[in-house]
Amino acid sequence: TGRLWVVATPIGNLEDFSPRAQDVLRRVSLIAAEDTRHSAPLLARFGIGTRLVALHEHNERDEADRLVARMLAGEEIGLISDAGTPLVSDPGFRLVRAARAAGIAVSPIPGACAAIAALSVAGLPSDRFVFEGFLPAKAAARRERLAELASESRTVVLYESSHRVRECLDDMAAVLGAERPAVLARELTKLFETVLDGSISELIARVAADPNQERGEFVLLIGGRPEQEDARLAEGRRVFALLREELP
Ligand code: SAM
Repeated sequence: TGRLWVVATPIGNLEDFSPRAQDVLRRVSLIAAEDTRHSAPLLARFGIGTRLVALHEHNERDEADRLVARMLAGEEIGLISDAGTPLVSDPGFRLVRAARAAGIAVSPIPGACAAIAALSVAGLPSDRFVFEGFLPAKAAARRERLAELASESRTVVLYESSHRVRECLDDMAAVLGAERPAVLARELTKLFETVLDGSISELIARVAADPNQERGEFVLLIGGRPEQEDARLAEGRRVFALLREELP
């Protein structure tokens, strides 16, 4: 029977392309790729000559049915995106859902993911976190989303594009307060990898002082709102007072 392989590719450093990922992509009959022009050079470099077909936002609905039919007929197909793990702020969800609904086995070949890589070096609490993907591009909607996140006590992980990093930090300062701890993880696994940590206002100052810090690809992490010790104590006292009235 057929199978869908969901295969992570590097987010910068080509040595993060796992041997198993390469083997599977060499072996499958077809690779569905977010952007075939983007992926062709990567695959060529690793001697992977498998045929590519485009699977992006705009054709995923139709293409998913076609690919599912091929897998039902016994083919194994690989799914990749431009970088990192497919489906994580990348296409593939509809194909995976359709494959599972059709009873086709879906297997991951795990590897690079910018969000997890950033979380693993940020030094913010990582036992519980939320991944928010990209914030809305328009300022008003972005501030609204940040306002929704203001009371979040878990670490928040965001993707941001380079031309909006300053705006985003400014909005974070305005909505979350300039003292909130944050981390800016830039160009992970690449030559100019930098991971800046500090309060939001410190990050703003460091980015302003060095325009290079605005270049490349970013993951932004926001420390969760500290649990409100006072509020918890007050609630504890209130509950205790209620219980005491019931006791003999
Ligand atoms: N699927 C990918 C993954 O697993 O990380 C993410 C795809 S998303 C369209 C692209 C975004 O991921 C970029 O805008 C940036 O926020 C983040 N990103 C990708 N590569 C990165 C890197 N090397 N360093 C920092 N952030 C990166």
